[in-house]
Amino acid sequence: MIEDAPVAGRPLSPLDPVALLSSHPILQTDPRGLIIWVNDAFEALTGFTSAEAMGKTPGSLLQCPDTNPQTIRAIREALAARVPIRTPILNRSKAGRFYWLDLEIQPVFDGEGVIQGFQAIEVDVTDLMETLSRDRAALDLAARREATVANVAQLAGVGSWEVELETNRVIWTDQARHLLDLDPGMALTLADSIALFTPEARPIVEAAVALGVASGEPYKFEQPLITPRGRAIWIRVVGRLVTGAAEPSRLVGAIQDVTGLRAEREALQAALAAAEAATIAKSEFLANMSHEIRTPLTGVLGFAGLLEKLPDLPETARSYAGRIATSGQALLSVVNDILDFSKLEADRVTLDPHPFDPWALVAETVALVAAEAGRKGLTLTTEFEGEPPAAVLADSARVRQVLLNLLSNAIKFTKAGQITIKLGYCPEAGGELRVAVADSGIGIPADQVDRLFQRFSQVDGSNTRVYGGTGLGLAISKSLAELMGGRIGAESSWGKGSTFWFTLAAPRAELARPEPAAAEAQVLVAADARILVVDDVAMNRELVRTMLAPFAYDITEAANGADAVRAALSVPFDLILMDLQMPGMDGLAATRAIRATSDLNQQTPIVALSANVLPIHIAECRDAGMDDHIAKPISPADLLTKIAHWTLPEEVDTPQSEAR
Ligand code: ADP
Repeated sequence: MIEDAPVAGRPLSPLDPVALLSSHPILQTDPRGLIIWVNDAFEALTGFTSAEAMGKTPGSLLQCPDTNPQTIRAIREALAARVPIRTPILNRSKAGRFYWLDLEIQPVFDGEGVIQGFQAIEVDVTDLMETLSRDRAALDLAARREATVANVAQLAGVGSWEVELETNRVIWTDQARHLLDLDPGMALTLADSIALFTPEARPIVEAAVALGVASGEPYKFEQPLITPRGRAIWIRVVGRLVTGAAEPSRLVGAIQDVTGLRAEREALQAALAAAEAATIAKSEFLANMSHEIRTPLTGVLGFAGLLEKLPDLPETARSYAGRIATSGQALLSVVNDILDFSKLEADRVTLDPHPFDPWALVAETVALVAAEAGRKGLTLTTEFEGEPPAAVLADSARVRQVLLNLLSNAIKFTKAGQITIKLGYCPEAGGELRVAVADSGIGIPADQVDRLFQRFSQVDGSNTRVYGGTGLGLAISKSLAELMGGRIGAESSWGKGSTFWFTLAAPRAELARPEPAAAEAQVLVAADARILVVDDVAMNRELVRTMLAPFAYDITEAANGADAVRAALSVPFDLILMDLQMPGMDGLAATRAIRATSDLNQQTPIVALSANVLPIHIAECRDAGMDDHIAKPISPADLLTKIAHWTLPEEVDTPQSEAR
């Protein structure tokens, strides 16, 4: 476009056909710079007629605020110095359109060298300038993007690389070189790069790369290497084979220094392991503590019970024995609560769903607290809303536990009036059982209701509080209700009474066999059964012996595992009651030894007698070859039921004595 311009250098006469017909605007001025002539192309481009342009300076006509001031200054200086000038310039037409010119101004002299004026030839280069500026913008954007990517890569500690498979040469980005301490001139082949990895890592890296090349699938690994400057770092590599028809195959990928990340990860894992170890230690501590408390409680409760039953006991002594038994029971229930709570916290409670009659379960549970309610003069009523299903599938022991807790609280916090137990069933969504316990007791301030379901939370937590308790009951109940697929809640008004309720998922079910009667089991006793009682604590052996005294059992005692094994080698027993924790040979080892060595007692039922009551302990007992488990503190009924179950022929076995 510029080439076809009427190249300046000679002044054109206004009548010159080149000037007249040129498609490029041309103008002439007098020595002062005032326009004296313009051609048609000037009129067409600028929109000013020749008449309008006459006598004006081109600048006053065409310059605009956006015209570069340096350009204007350069033109003025050239005019003053009477020298030619060529410059791009932004002008504005009469209609306000902006356009770019390639402007060339020549001074015009007469034969004597006297200035006659100036001639300007203008070439419209707007299209060119726009294209250029678009390209520039695109270039700028690309450069900016590249810079951003580089910045981000630097921030993330990521560099990229490429391997030409033909030459095996690796091309690194600056960031990649920086990460690996590679000097700019250092050229590495793929093999050289793999050699940077530690000897142990190298085969792994080689295998990953080979697989990536063979399969075409992306590959990645994280391995340690030593940089040429001797820094030991961990590098994460991702790569992939790129094959194109036009270009040779290559591997492309990125590397990242993950040394810091790994250190953080390891610290986190160590913290996690420490936390897990602390949880295990806590659980073990709780289990041990519970064992240590249960063991002496066995004596307290057992002998208090026996004492109460002595026929010739003075009344005061009998009432003291009763108090010892009640306090022991209270202590036992606190230990049970703590143990339960820690098991729930560690997600170690598993449900044991089976079909049961919900109505019978509620009646049976209410019967357990009826005496206590009676002592306080409270009326207990039970209502069923709607039609009760004959049986539902759920864990009845856990339902009983939650209900018993709500009932005990209701009795504890009610001085007078009544307690109503409502049972409801909603068959929708698979079946839901709803149990509510309403009392006319002291109530709970509205803002405290939700808090009570948190552990150790009580309305009155002061030292002077009237009501005892650990504040764990409702937290346990909440966890159990949620474990059973339900919820728990309470409505209460301060001074007027409370209603605590819970729900659980309980699909309708068929009763597999008649539930045992709620009444106390009638324990049948086998005469003459030979029982070996193994316990290192003499008091415990004495307790069992005394509990069994009214019955005609033939009892042998052993004070440790080794004695038990010896006894089992010479006497065929009908039942062995085996303590677990004993110095020397413990109960598990003794059981294994009896099963392995005693022909006489290989099949004899062995029942663990222990304060270790966690499921894991019971599983250990079974693994060692034991048949059953009796928890300490031993209840006489439990002991007799288990003895009957394991010593009586099956047809006279009692319904309650089924092995658990
Ligand atoms: P604990 O009874 O051992 O303190 P719980 O978790 O069973 O623990 O109960 C927490 C607290 O909730 C109780 O101390 C008492 O302040 C309040 N609470 C529970 N049930 C009732 C109720 N029926 N009436 C009034 N307050 C209750």
